[in-house]
Amino acid sequence: MNQKEIEKVLKEKLPSANIKLNEPMKLHTSFKIGGPADFFITANNIQEIREVVNIAKENNLPLKVVGNGTNLLVKDNGFRGIILKTNLQEIKITKTKNKDEINTKYKINEMESSINCKEEYIVNVQSGMALGKLAQILLKNEIGGFEFASGIPGTIGGAIKMNAGAYGGEFKDIVQDVTYLNEQNDIVVIQNMQCDFSYRHSLFSNKDYIILGCNLKLYKDTKENIKNKLDENLQSRREKQPIEYPSAGSTFKRGEDFITAKLIDECGLKGYTIGGAQVSEKHAGFIINKNNATAEDVINLIKHVTEIVYEKTGKKINLEIEIIGK
Ligand SMILES: Cc1cc2nc3c(=O)[nH]c(=O)nc-3n(C[C@H](O)[C@H](O)[C@H](O)COP(=O)(O)OP(=O)(O)OC[C@H]3O[C@@H](n4cnc5c(N)ncnc54)[C@H](O)[C@@H]3O)c2cc1C
Repeated sequence: MNQKEIEKVLKEKLPSANIKLNEPMKLHTSFKIGGPADFFITANNIQEIREVVNIAKENNLPLKVVGNGTNLLVKDNGFRGIILKTNLQEIKITKTKNKDEINTKYKINEMESSINCKEEYIVNVQSGMALGKLAQILLKNEIGGFEFASGIPGTIGGAIKMNAGAYGGEFKDIVQDVTYLNEQNDIVVIQNMQCDFSYRHSLFSNKDYIILGCNLKLYKDTKENIKNKLDENLQSRREKQPIEYPSAGSTFKRGEDFITAKLIDECGLKGYTIGGAQVSEKHAGFIINKNNATAEDVINLIKHVTEIVYEKTGKKINLEIEIIGK
């Protein structure tokens, strides 16, 4: 089937407004870079996601799920196939234990008791929810434990896949279970231990599963405490990160025995520019879109930085961002 025929099939199953053809991906990535996706589809519920998965399968079309596109570099010729944005936004908060129950449970071990005596909440949240928005909802409800994630500009889906983290917290610390669609389009629930979380990695890193939502385990706190932590983290980001320029956050992963940004800085690469892409002068770990950069500029800069760091220090640095497309 050609593009128009597939569009017709899609429109039989989904609202027309949710289907865009030849959509520039620079409109859907924080890098503000990327050529057109053949189809850019927004799904507002699980049924719509399943329909899109079926249509992609039947027509042999590559399918890539995205959240806020804040860890992605899409190549200049775009993406042949379907980009699916999961716009699932529901949230449900349940108080699971009150203080007395928790104290009783842990009273055998006084040490644990003092750590765990906070009231617990289970926050059921769908994958399209933006982390910043969730942080504000939790603040309003006086629920703590999520502050570390508030300044990460992604969604729940992207954050679970990446085991996103900052300021001493990671998703692996707060996820109780994850609900996803597997390759057969079946809904599956797995517990934290089965998610294979490690640094910027999860079970979902190497699979084409579609994360639908999760339960987060959080705790009661005061508005003041939560607000202070949120403000502190935001202030630190403003001071240290080039958030005034488009980027996809840290371009490279931390090394096992080194801080990548520090190595890049020590190699004299801060400010190094190729085309419109630049190694940020503020934070060497970030490649920024300084001036209408193309994906090719960024990729060439990544290659250059990787080569120079290896030549000068003998260390291999690995990408944290994901490059997709043609
Ligand atoms: C200024 C800035 C600061 C950042 N700071 C941090 C930080 O402090 N810590 C950190 O960890 N990251 C940080 N990031 C990177 C990024 O925000 C995170 O990796 C985030 O988790 C990506 O979420 P997303 O929704 O944007 O995912 P996307 O970029 O859209 O996608 C990332 C990956 O997740 C997959 N994915 C997305 N949604 C789903 C889903 N529903 N089901 C299955 N797979 C899915 C995509 O296919 C892709 O493989 C930063 C980025 C920027 C631009």
